[in-house]
Amino acid sequence: MSTAGGTGMGGERCSACGRSAAHVKRLFAGRTPSTASAVICDRCIRECENAIADAPTRIPGGAHSCAFCAKLEDQVAVIVGVGAKKICDECVDAYRAALG
Ligand SMILES: [Zn+2]
Ligand SMILES: [Zn+2]
Repeated sequence: MSTAGGTGMGGERCSACGRSAAHVKRLFAGRTPSTASAVICDRCIRECENAIADAPTRIPGGAHSCAFCAKLEDQVAVIVGVGAKKICDECVDAYRAALG
């Protein structure tokens, strides 16, 4: 039978860049129950790490929250955009540490 497209079993992919598990080293799910459906890959985490190190610019337009821990912009040091998602420095740190 053909494999089912879209989301579902085995179809996990990065919410930011869209790469599937087969194309990245690791995928991490959101850190809280309410953000568990958000997924980010190791490549995007490294990209975010660089963005944060490189004096991030504030994302314009209203209040933002991290797609991976649900914290608001004023509860964390910085939030950066990655693809269609936003992530805070705390989540980048945590995922980065898990990568080793
Ligand atoms: Zn990614
Ligand atoms: Zn976060």
